[in-house]
Amino acid sequence: MEQIVILGSGPAGMTAAIYAGRSQLSPLVISGYALGGQAASSSEIENYPGFPQGISGLELMQSMQQQAERFGARIEMDDVQQVQLQQHPFLITASAAAYETKTLVIATGVSPRLLNVPGEAKFKGRGVSYCATCDGFFYRDKTVVVVGGGDSAVNEALYLTRFASKVYIVHRRDQLRAQKIAQERLLGNSRIEPVWNSVVTEVLGDQAVTGIRIHNVKTGEDSVLNAEGMFSYVGNIPNTQLFKGQLALDDQGYIITDRAMHTSVPGVFAAGDVQERALKQVATAVGSGAIAAMQAEEFIAEMEGHAYPQRQA
Ligand code: NAP
Repeated sequence: MEQIVILGSGPAGMTAAIYAGRSQLSPLVISGYALGGQAASSSEIENYPGFPQGISGLELMQSMQQQAERFGARIEMDDVQQVQLQQHPFLITASAAAYETKTLVIATGVSPRLLNVPGEAKFKGRGVSYCATCDGFFYRDKTVVVVGGGDSAVNEALYLTRFASKVYIVHRRDQLRAQKIAQERLLGNSRIEPVWNSVVTEVLGDQAVTGIRIHNVKTGEDSVLNAEGMFSYVGNIPNTQLFKGQLALDDQGYIITDRAMHTSVPGVFAAGDVQERALKQVATAVGSGAIAAMQAEEFIAEMEGHAYPQRQA
């Protein structure tokens, strides 16, 4: 019987593991197959306090993992197939094992939203990517298209200029959504060419990507950008498929929590992007992960009739 199982190994999950570990709950983190979550694939994180020069997402997440393990967290790289939350203890069935647990912290994050255009699925992983830090290297001296106008698209377009000779950024409006400082850098970078008011309609190519067909939503014109790769950052969808019908979700599928990260099922908490709609940041994720772990500890103490431990300042 586990005291606490944490689903997800991004900033929220790892922080929950650090706090639960320090409370001697011996947390079990089921990490999925991508350790560190989406943050680990961020080329550079410049707004997480404590790193005045910025830090790579991978380095930050490796440090969080080490910190969690130092306090006794066990990390299983496994994929959860099913959860049963109508019973207590909760039952978590992963590919390799099943676990019973007194409390559950869900920090499963979000996944990239697909464009759902012809050619996207065909070239996924060989010309179409959702991770510039993973795949940018393969586009040295090539032309790539980045899709989207948010922080991810803008930051990763900038990152891709380290490799690519030319980066188009295709956005459906003529104003970016990203933070102003990143917008200024993008617009001042001679390797990046914004393509405004345009949407991608097809990824072209036979064996490899040769171009991206776009449609101008203002003029109605169709054209082709010659490029060898496309990096798409058009938002995210919450990873909550497992919890449908068992937890209250909002209209977009995010888990509904109160300010103390309680979900609709007592003993089940959610933290990080999977429940965050206002501001998806590492800084907000770690805060909610810490709260979720502390609330889980309190839940166990109350359930078992112990006084909640008084904390030293
Ligand atoms: P996002 O902020 O939701 O931006 C998605 C972008 O894709 C928007 O510009 C949107 O256009 C566009 N888009 C959405 N659906 C589209 C479609 N079907 N076709 C074409 N374009 C489409 O997503 P994100 O950039 O991945 O960021 C997610 C969250 O993480 C945000 O809260 C962001 O601030 C945060 N984040 C922060 C940092 C940082 O602070 N360093 C880095 C990365 C992410 P519209 O603008 O017209 O809606």
